[in-house]
Amino acid sequence: MTLETVKGAILGLVTGDALGVPVEFIDRDKLEKSPVTDMQAYGTHHQPAETWSDDSSMALCLLESLISGIDYADMMARFLRWAKEGYMTAHDKTFGMGRTTLKALGKFAHHTPPLECGGTGTYDNGNGSLMRILPVALYLHSIIGQEFPQSPEAYQIIHNASALTHAHPISLIACGIYCAAANELLCGRNTSADIQNGIAAAKAFYRSSSEWSTFLDQFRRVEVDVLQSLTRNEISSSGYVLHTLEAALWCLLHHNDYRSCLLEAVNLGKDTDTVGAVAGGLAGIQYSFHGIPADWLDVIAKRMEIELLCQVFAQSL
Ligand SMILES: [Mg+2]
Repeated sequence: MTLETVKGAILGLVTGDALGVPVEFIDRDKLEKSPVTDMQAYGTHHQPAETWSDDSSMALCLLESLISGIDYADMMARFLRWAKEGYMTAHDKTFGMGRTTLKALGKFAHHTPPLECGGTGTYDNGNGSLMRILPVALYLHSIIGQEFPQSPEAYQIIHNASALTHAHPISLIACGIYCAAANELLCGRNTSADIQNGIAAAKAFYRSSSEWSTFLDQFRRVEVDVLQSLTRNEISSSGYVLHTLEAALWCLLHHNDYRSCLLEAVNLGKDTDTVGAVAGGLAGIQYSFHGIPADWLDVIAKRMEIELLCQVFAQSL
């Protein structure tokens, strides 16, 4: 995998997160009166314009951990450092952590094995694992190969990386579908039919076992033709993992460049930074690193450190 691809994915995610941070929790009707049109400062979290949040911090922790291969305890140890010390943050300050993640990290701090820390309840299906899972797709695309969405082993790794904090089947399946869609883009296959092929590959895996298939009905809107037919009013941008997956794919399918895709994502309101991060990772791969507006990239906090991390990761593959 080229460094350009890794940078497109990771800085696409970070930039989408930073675009959404100032308007997190703001309702859509308010944003319709005063939409986000550019990278802006302050707002909800009173942060400067270049600030990214938990979504990027956790994705960067995962990216860094994967440089040495799969080690779930190491992933959790990095997340814990982020939570406790502000490690891998924009301004050395942790913010934006979700409830399920906080609970899981508390268990890990008290010596629960990493794969037993994640919440398994219906209410543990916030988007906290989906928002950080993209580095796993990059890793699997390189290590297992372009056909990883056909590999049960790949899903095991995706599920484990999610289950560190979010272990309910709906969160696991959302991460699996997202990684399979990302793989299409990583293969340079960018059409809506290609994205559908990625979704279908993941669904075929989940349909093959009753452990998963009972949950698939909830993903019935995660189909390219359905998403293309849905209006903006039918898309929710709450923090529920399924809503975030639908919203991110909907934005990707309704736009033809990174900037307009991401402005759409954050102007949906509510969980703006995470919809921005989840859509931004995919759009960053589709339109490449060079498709991310330079004036947005230029202000991203610790951009050089992030690019260096991408470089070490790309070299490790
Ligand atoms: Mg956030």
